Amino acid sequence: MKEYVERLEGGEALSSEALRSLLVMPDGDASAYLQECARRVAQSRFSTSVYVRGLIEVSNYCRNNCYYCGIRKGNPEVMRYRLGKDDILECCRHGYSLGFRTFVLQGGEDPRQTDDFVVDVVSAIRALYPDCAITLSLGEKPREAYERFFRAGANRYLLRHETYNAAHYCQLHPAEMSRDNRLRCLHDLKDIGYQTGTGIMVGSPGQTVDDIVADLLFIRELAPQMIGIGPFIPHHATPFALEKAGSVELTLRLLSILRLMHPRALIPATTALATLSPEGRNRGILAGANVVMPNLSPLSVRQKYELYNDKAALGAESAEGLQALQKELDRIGYRIDYGRGDYV
Ligand code: SAH
Repeated sequence: MKEYVERLEGGEALSSEALRSLLVMPDGDASAYLQECARRVAQSRFSTSVYVRGLIEVSNYCRNNCYYCGIRKGNPEVMRYRLGKDDILECCRHGYSLGFRTFVLQGGEDPRQTDDFVVDVVSAIRALYPDCAITLSLGEKPREAYERFFRAGANRYLLRHETYNAAHYCQLHPAEMSRDNRLRCLHDLKDIGYQTGTGIMVGSPGQTVDDIVADLLFIRELAPQMIGIGPFIPHHATPFALEKAGSVELTLRLLSILRLMHPRALIPATTALATLSPEGRNRGILAGANVVMPNLSPLSVRQKYELYNDKAALGAESAEGLQALQKELDRIGYRIDYGRGDYV
């Protein structure tokens, strides 16, 4: 196993079988070695710094019905909200004053937040904060929409492929959605020039180790600038309410493998990881992650963007909690880097 780790670190493309064996190897010397190498690789690029991104959850209306997601259209319990332009700009103003230089606008696929609206908001943020990166995470759109957002000044786009296996994709999404359209979006985004992020939920219902191997191969091929990996966590009002959460350990394992395969990638220690385990964020960083995304949404809506049960949005997972976050990072000898943190 150590040989596989060394080959990965050396930039070699491992076979599916080798990747599979890294994923399933028992905890022990080899897995500890994997993690040490991943941490060393991350530190050689990013030192012991962690970039922060201010996450603004712009709407929890969604036209989709993804079986895992708490804000799916079919969940009648959600108190729906949608931020207006002024609300979003106020979040940016607040975030900027706290030190954020990346704003991430994420939301459900809200038909009433039209492409024109997004163009208008992005243009306004671009004009007010020329030194900031603007990241969008608004789901699947036609290529022309992505092009318009990019011309308006958006720099990055996050769109997890969720799973590369088309049959597994159908287990997670209703028939109106397709893996192929998801992949089309990702290729368009990259082609347009966005720093593009993709990723998966670890332990989503029906996921096999071979599915994860296929995800690793897909990510290797796509070579995204950002990779978001977090454990699946059930949401009580979804079809997957009774499914069990993904494994923290496997998520960490995967983070380390991805760090070795993508030494320069921006990889967050996700909120889902921090939600599932009190040490999740720090353990993610020690496994090779180098980004955290504190919540910058207005406090009045924060509980309403509930993708999964008990989603963390306060303390060190919140924009107001940067000091708390730094205190947490102190425990592992890391520090917040307030730079834009572009992919280089
Ligand atoms: N509408 C946007 C944003 C989706 S929310 C889009 O389609 O990209 C961002 C991510 O949260 C999703 O890509 C999914 O991977 C993750 N997510 C959603 N529900 C989740 C759950 N129950 N557990 C863990 N992660 C979840």
